[in-house]
Amino acid sequence: MSQKPVDLLFGDLWSYAPAPESPSHVKYPKQLSHFIGGQFEPGDNFFPVINPATEEVLTECPAADAATVDRAVKAARTAYEKYWRPMPGRERAKYLHRIARMIQEKARELAILESMNGGKPIREARDVDVPLAAAHFSYYAGWADKLKYAFPGLGLDGPQPLGVAGQIIPWNFPLLMAAWKIAPALATGNTVVLKAAETTPLTCWKLAEIIQEADLPPGVVNIIHGFGATGAALVNHPDVNKIAFTGSTEVGKIIQRSIAGTKKKLTLELGGKGANIIFEDAAIDQAVEGIVNGIWFNQGHVCCAGSRLLVEESVVDQVILKLQQRMETLVVGDPLDKNTDIGAINSRAQLDTINELVQAGLDEGGIMHQSPCKLPEKGFFFRPTFFSGVTPSSRIAQEEIFGPVLAILTFRTPAEAIEKANNTPYGLSAGIWTDKGAKIFAMASALKAGVIWGNTFNKFDPTSPFGGYKESGFGREGGRHGLLPYLDLQG
Ligand code: NAP
Ligand code: MG
Repeated sequence: MSQKPVDLLFGDLWSYAPAPESPSHVKYPKQLSHFIGGQFEPGDNFFPVINPATEEVLTECPAADAATVDRAVKAARTAYEKYWRPMPGRERAKYLHRIARMIQEKARELAILESMNGGKPIREARDVDVPLAAAHFSYYAGWADKLKYAFPGLGLDGPQPLGVAGQIIPWNFPLLMAAWKIAPALATGNTVVLKAAETTPLTCWKLAEIIQEADLPPGVVNIIHGFGATGAALVNHPDVNKIAFTGSTEVGKIIQRSIAGTKKKLTLELGGKGANIIFEDAAIDQAVEGIVNGIWFNQGHVCCAGSRLLVEESVVDQVILKLQQRMETLVVGDPLDKNTDIGAINSRAQLDTINELVQAGLDEGGIMHQSPCKLPEKGFFFRPTFFSGVTPSSRIAQEEIFGPVLAILTFRTPAEAIEKANNTPYGLSAGIWTDKGAKIFAMASALKAGVIWGNTFNKFDPTSPFGGYKESGFGREGGRHGLLPYLDLQG
């Protein structure tokens, strides 16, 4: 070991007084509804929507059957032909800007809903999810009348929209994923049927309300709810031109198989097992903050999480000690409390998955380090955890845990770091921590990952493309690249 680590102070000498955000002014109905053709319609096949931090039922949500999906697709088709396709880009942009402003105006309400329904800390919903969702609409509003310049040389008409986009999103960033999907589709002149995830319909329902208030022509955006079967009905609908999916690799493969041989265009944003690589010359205290952000942001429910930590052997003891100390300062509990760092696991099913994989980590001989923090009695919570002594072939080094659990491996040379980092079926994200800029560039060109951060982690911006390699999927969201999956460049 190169140097003896000293105990670190993280300003944790005093405990925080509770600072809960009040949900009292946030209103939602006892039963949610689908939003089709500009109208909310009651729906049926209701199922409960749970607050994962309290296990209380927040509301009930309808599940769309094939007939409902068909009506939503028809509404989107009519809106495409009648309103959206003929509308000049500069007019479409006005609607997108209006949605962005309304998200900003309702930011507090949206943040509370996101936190209550998803389990994420209010601080993250408030400072990340909601502002980034608004930023996506603003950013793509800017492209709506500049598509000819984004993809020049295609004649007077420029690139053309595809038609109706079917979009399916997961539960980890419900509002933000809806924004990532809807904003580029509308900017490029397509209309949308979006299916929200079954456990997190609330902010999508609220977004539908915003879209109605923004006076979008009826049917341009349709938001439906339901389970996997609803998503499958949307994927298999013959009048859908494009499918955009974010979720598990397993379901991504099912979708790819089911649309094979059709003319539907497809983008898949799937799982990941991001390598976060710490060199001995890195600013270790900053790197520790990057590790924390990489694995414990949003309880680790992040497809691009830095869930595999690769540490240069000479500093591994130091990193483990500092990480343990830092982990113990994380406040775990009520997501609505502004002091909370780690909220609730999104569902009991996801908690079961995490428990199963952690047990596998122990069975395979990993050394578990856990915060001794007290967990709330009710709700789905999991202590921030990391494993040292992990072998590259073990399940916790290979499989996506999608929870607050980090696996630590070591390396001795950059070549070994690259080999270990790329030893995964995934390829979504990676992080590199070093004092040497040249090393960042050299590593970044050797790593097979769609997004690579240098001396930072989990930074998002609408101008920057995001997406994967290998089993992490294909296609990009964000930036100019994010327009492409929604355009026909053949004319
Ligand atoms: P999932 O089952 O793939 O769900 C994603 C979305 O697809 C949900 O709206 C889901 O509906 C829907 N769906 C399920 N089966 C479908 C089918 N056969 N056809 C069409 N749509 C279908 O993922 P999840 O259950 O939310 O999360 C499980 C895993 O997904 C996580 O552990 C993680 O590995 C991965 N994940 C990746 C990302 C990412 O950004 N890349 C994000 C979240 C999760 P239901 O909600 O009803 O299941
Ligand atoms: Mg699922």
